[in-house]
Amino acid sequence: MRAVLSIGSNMDDRDALLRSAYDYFAPELVAASSIYSTPPWGPVSQNDFLNAILIIDTDRTPMQLLAAAQEVENAADRRREVRWGPRTLDIDIVQCLIDDVEVISADPVLTLPHPWAQERAFVLAPWLEADPEAELRGEPVRALLEGMDTSEVRKVSEF
Ligand code: ATP
Ligand code: CA
Ligand code: CA
Repeated sequence: MRAVLSIGSNMDDRDALLRSAYDYFAPELVAASSIYSTPPWGPVSQNDFLNAILIIDTDRTPMQLLAAAQEVENAADRRREVRWGPRTLDIDIVQCLIDDVEVISADPVLTLPHPWAQERAFVLAPWLEADPEAELRGEPVRALLEGMDTSEVRKVSEF
């Protein structure tokens, strides 16, 4: 299975926390974006995020991948406080592809593709960098990004 992961942090040592996710998935890594600084998304006022995209090839199932992502979040001392609030590390599964076919799931435990991905420049801009040919629900990510405000999604470093 090919999977696209969006990783983000806006608490504590954000750079080290993103790198902890990168290191965990390094054995399965196909491509990684740069690290981007992005403004917070949603209703809660909070610090800016660092965000990146990791693309992996893995033998895990989507549910096994979710469990692994949550273990890495927990290792980063992730606490569940407010929805969309500050967090040490967030790992969202943006998309899973099996034999190049997008997995579709309406299960609230694991919704695929991630329901907000197409509205989030902090997901789409690094994804396009990591995979210029990427498609989400049959639409090129390049096209989804057109007309979106990416002025505040800035590359800050590399892994
Ligand atoms: P958002 O999903 O809007 O980015 P969030 O990342 O802040 O919000 P969390 O508190 O991290 O939300 O996760 C809430 C629940 O979302 C998790 O317990 C998980 O089961 C579920 N979930 C559903 N679909 C996905 C997905 N594609 N990737 C990761 N978690 C998901
Ligand atoms: Ca998220
Ligand atoms: Ca999440």
